[in-house]
Amino acid sequence: MLSPVYQPVYHPKPAPVRPQTQAQRLEELIGNTPLLDLSRTAVAHGLSPRVSLFAKAEWFNPGGSVKDRAALNIIRTAEKDGRLRPGMTLIDSTSGNTGIAYAMLGAARGYRVKLVVPQNISPERLAILRAYGAELIFTDPMDGSDGALEEARRLAAADPSLFYARQYDNPANWRAHYLTTANEIWQQTDGTITHFVAGMGTSGTFMGTMRRLKELNPAILGHAVQPDSPFNGLEGLKHMPTAIKPGIYDETLADDIRAVRTEDAYQMARFLARQEGVFVGISAAAAVWAATAVGQTLEAGTIVTILPDSGLKYLSERFWNE
Ligand code: PMP
Repeated sequence: MLSPVYQPVYHPKPAPVRPQTQAQRLEELIGNTPLLDLSRTAVAHGLSPRVSLFAKAEWFNPGGSVKDRAALNIIRTAEKDGRLRPGMTLIDSTSGNTGIAYAMLGAARGYRVKLVVPQNISPERLAILRAYGAELIFTDPMDGSDGALEEARRLAAADPSLFYARQYDNPANWRAHYLTTANEIWQQTDGTITHFVAGMGTSGTFMGTMRRLKELNPAILGHAVQPDSPFNGLEGLKHMPTAIKPGIYDETLADDIRAVRTEDAYQMARFLARQEGVFVGISAAAAVWAATAVGQTLEAGTIVTILPDSGLKYLSERFWNE
């Protein structure tokens, strides 16, 4: 038998790998977060066995929250438009998570970051912002997030060397979720999602995700979550009827708006940590509470909600002690 003739295999030289910058490496870690199955929560809250409850674990983003997505898209879009140029300082008002994302990305990309925050910002968030080297400007806690917003507007108008990121009015905020979060949910549920539930701060997460989900399947229903009163413990969420309405907020995208009491969110946060092993922040717990309320009205369906951050930034809250 003739011995087989081996053709030499030609291995083309691999294309040279373009060295990645630290900023690129960090930014590649944003998005594609895991989808958790909260089946024990579903059973314990009386949902039909034909109703599934899933949740995006957004603390897997490198800055620890869902806001990495919005901040990254805001920065990239402004760089493309030429509104953010080397040497400029980014300014915005933020209750914490967006600020952490700006501070992280600013450090990686070489921008200074100036944040206007209400003075009652939690000690955990304050410590993280300081760690990333952000410059902080404090406003009266009585004026809430709207007071911080007005001060940021005033400072930005007075100094053209500042890039005002305007997370409440910037379409790049909701577009981040239109481009990423919604498509991830669609893929991770194999297109079976029937209901989407999310809290609203700037409303970017809800607006962008819902806009894209309705394109993918117009029958998907959107349930927006907000606190039941202007004074509440649901950090990160806005009471829309009494707050300055974000420019990007379009209430027609919500099929339903659910009001959640702070106490119910606290109880759900403890339940999730102790019964599911899922340690989340208060707005995440509020969203899961609303998702179970939606689920209780259904015979069958696939509900997806968003867990904006983990419980680590809320450790100084007393409700964990119960
Ligand atoms: N939860 C937390 C903890 C947040 O920080 C935010 C952002 N303010 C939200 C929910 C709401 O997200 P969005 O701004 O996209 O509505």
